[in-house]
Amino acid sequence: MIKRKLIVIGNGMVGHRFCEKLVEFGGTDKFDITVLGEEPRRAYDRVHLSEYFADKSADSLYLCSPDWYRTNGIKLLLSEPAIS
Ligand SMILES: Cc1cc2nc3c(=O)[nH]c(=O)nc-3n(C[C@H](O)[C@H](O)[C@H](O)COP(=O)(O)OP(=O)(O)OC[C@H]3O[C@@H](n4cnc5c(N)ncnc54)[C@H](O)[C@@H]3O)c2cc1C
Repeated sequence: MIKRKLIVIGNGMVGHRFCEKLVEFGGTDKFDITVLGEEPRRAYDRVHLSEYFADKSADSLYLCSPDWYRTNGIKLLLSEPAIS
C-alpha cells in the first residue's frame, strides 16, 4: 500500500498528543508522517514550565524519550519552521 504523506506542523503538546494517537490507531501504517517543529527541543510540558525554575530539570519536562519518534516510524525535524 502506498502511504499518503502527512505533515504535522508544530511539536507542542497538541502536536505530540496527535502523534501518539496516530501511533495508537495505526496511522503510521497508512501515512508517511513528518513533524516540523520550529523549536530546537522536542515536545515538552508547557503547563509545568514554571516548575523549571523550582526543582524540575528541562529533561523531566519532555513528553517522550529522545527516540520515541524514530522508534514509532515518525520523522521529527526540529529547528525547522514551516514557512510555506
Ligand atoms: C508557563 C505556562 C503555563 C501554563 N499553564 C497552563 C495550565 O496550568 N493549564 C493549562 O491548561 N494550560 C496552561 N498553559 C497553556 C498550555 O501550555 C497551552 O494551552 C498548550 O501548550 C497548547 O498546546 P499547543 O500544542 O496547541 O500549542 P503550543 O504548546 O504553543 O505548541 C505549538 C508548537 O508549534 C510550534 N510552531 C508554531 N508555528 C510553527 C511553524 N510554522 N513551523 C513549525 N513549528 C511551529 C511552536 O514553536 C510550538 O512548539 C500554560 C502555558 C505556559 C507557557
